[in-house]
Amino acid sequence: MVYLIKKNYPVYINNHLNTSVVFSGGFKGDLCNVNCIYCNYTSVMGDRSPNVGIMDVLQVLINSKKNSCFEINFAGGEFFARKDAEEILNYLIDKNVRISVTTNASVRREGFIKLLVNNKVNYINVSLDCGSQETYKKVKERDFYNRVLDNLNEWSKFNVQIYLKYIFIPNVNDNQIDILGFVNVCKQLNASVTISANSYNINEQLPSHTLEAAKYLYNEILKNKLPVSFTLALFNEHDRNLISSFIR
Ligand code: SF4
Repeated sequence: MVYLIKKNYPVYINNHLNTSVVFSGGFKGDLCNVNCIYCNYTSVMGDRSPNVGIMDVLQVLINSKKNSCFEINFAGGEFFARKDAEEILNYLIDKNVRISVTTNASVRREGFIKLLVNNKVNYINVSLDCGSQETYKKVKERDFYNRVLDNLNEWSKFNVQIYLKYIFIPNVNDNQIDILGFVNVCKQLNASVTISANSYNINEQLPSHTLEAAKYLYNEILKNKLPVSFTLALFNEHDRNLISSFIR
């Protein structure tokens, strides 16, 4: 059962697992600090800013035996861009919970480093979508590529599991330079890889050269003996069938 504290899903408790609490990223005006060309979160949430007091909810959950949970997941928008992110992270440091985070990795938070040092982070999930500074700027409309790599390299030193996603955007990131750059980053971070499509265009078939690029990335990741999977549900039926024919 998913329990909605507010109807715009700023917070929910995944009760069927009884383990996971998910918080959305930011409030109106600071939902996110980048602007991915495929983002549907900031456009959906932009006028319906969550106004839940996250610290209040956390305190209730952590102090409640009934809702005892061992993982708090921050996702949607950019949690680390929240003005109160440092306060929330510092609050969690001595609590009996672990966290996971979906982040664009462009913001460094000292509280997060403390959680990593104390082995309290289950995983970090980042959509990188490219392997070059130039393409990063096109996809995210910000010049944060080097900063993101610096943060990921720092975080990876704490042996935390890192998931990197590559959302294919036709004629933007379906080229060899980006794919090989991305593979290099994955190797450095020992990352698990997810290959995906833009959920906005789920009914549209990808161009054949983009699907070829996705296959190329898949094989390059396999060659490097890293875990890799496709988010098949986000590809249209034709593309899904084609991908299913070559995945091992
Ligand atoms: S990082 Fe996430 S929330 Fe921010 S613009 Fe990109 S997809 Fe949207």
